[in-house]
Amino acid sequence: MKRFGFLLATGVALLALGGPAFAADAPVLPPAAVKTATDIQGKALAGSGAFGFVESLTVRVGPRLAGSPAAKLSHQWAEARFKELGLTNIKVEPFTVDGWERGLEMASITKPVAHHLHVNALGHSVTTPPEGIEAPIVRFDTLEDLEAAPEGSLKGKIAFVDKKMSRLQDGGGYGEAVGVRGKGPEAAARKGAVALLIRSIGTDSHRFPHTGITRYAEGVTAIPAGALSNPDADQLNRVLALGQPVSIKLVLSSQAMGTLNDANVLAEIKGRELPDEIVVIGAHLDSWDLGTGALDDGAGVGIVLATAKILKSLPQAPRRTVRFVLFGAEEVGLVGAEAYAKQHAAELPKHQVGTEADFGAGPVITFNANVRPEAKPVITAIGKILAPLGIVPGRGPSSGGPDIGPMTAEGVASAGLGLDGTDYFDYHHTADDTLDKVDPKKLDQAVAAYASFVWLAAESPVAFGPVDKKDH
Ligand code: ZN
Ligand code: ZN
Repeated sequence: MKRFGFLLATGVALLALGGPAFAADAPVLPPAAVKTATDIQGKALAGSGAFGFVESLTVRVGPRLAGSPAAKLSHQWAEARFKELGLTNIKVEPFTVDGWERGLEMASITKPVAHHLHVNALGHSVTTPPEGIEAPIVRFDTLEDLEAAPEGSLKGKIAFVDKKMSRLQDGGGYGEAVGVRGKGPEAAARKGAVALLIRSIGTDSHRFPHTGITRYAEGVTAIPAGALSNPDADQLNRVLALGQPVSIKLVLSSQAMGTLNDANVLAEIKGRELPDEIVVIGAHLDSWDLGTGALDDGAGVGIVLATAKILKSLPQAPRRTVRFVLFGAEEVGLVGAEAYAKQHAAELPKHQVGTEADFGAGPVITFNANVRPEAKPVITAIGKILAPLGIVPGRGPSSGGPDIGPMTAEGVASAGLGLDGTDYFDYHHTADDTLDKVDPKKLDQAVAAYASFVWLAAESPVAFGPVDKKDH
């Protein structure tokens, strides 16, 4: 019987047994696997334990900037959790990262009227001189406007880019607004500016600025770069509207810390039938230094660990191996994800699918995937099993999440469980990203979705990949 059941689960065997008509009537997923998926959802909704993991990480470790001593502590924390859960093949896989420390941050309008401003340095910003920079400010609506400014027109000035981010449930406003954070310092320096200030990439109206990584181009002067909180950007606009020249004083004492060690932390539940084929569920362990990284990405870490806990509690292991990957150094440019794809290059063709939780604490509201055509009926079937959780098909194929990008670039299939991001960018990368923003019930729903998806992907009778390689 066991052998017969296994044959039923394979497309080739179906054709051999009864031809195409029989195959068309057969369930896409084995009924026993579907039953287990429903049980997994019930267990998660009754209390997945994910909140406890987020609490433990944010209290015992706190903020975990890439390459910092706290990041190292987070690796030990993750290793201990994986051991507690009884997972196997636990590994701490090292890589190096450019270190950086924030230091002092102060900004104020000095002319024509004095106002204190709330500012945070962008990640990897260079320092100002110790006494700071005081200079006239020139405002731009967008990065494109800054890039179009005449050569040399910002000599000795501070550029201010005032692009507002829109609030959308799927977080779509972020992609539109975030370009200035990465490219703004280079664009401003090319026009002669001595510093760059941006309106925070965030949807809130509180006075916590939003940090995030910036980049400097080779051969262009690196200038200090910071983000003003949204209310401070509004106030600056009001002062500019007075029609008189406006000057700002900016002090940032951030500094590069050289090359530091960081790591990804991995563990597995070995597959019962196809142990060489791997389903990856990931999140990133590092965070910015301002809050405690509860939403970004403590919640994702909680979802991954709670998924491991539920899958480990099942009477039998999944058909394929499930690998739980807690990536390091996501915030500073997907450094851990790139290292993973490189270190595991030989087995990427054996990766069934990759998915990441890195968009807050839930609930999951959409599901989509990027799989080969033969696997699309399985994705449709999984979508139906996720539907009772309130999940609808997402738009377009999924990228799987930021840390999955370097894998999809090599042709690994991906799946996206889209979390509700309506409020996510009120707190993202701010001092206000703290545990009180995480609702345990919503997080349990997210675990129900992720854990049942991962189980079904591991049970699927057909392989999800490979797919076309895509840029990330
Ligand atoms: Zn993140
Ligand atoms: Zn982030």
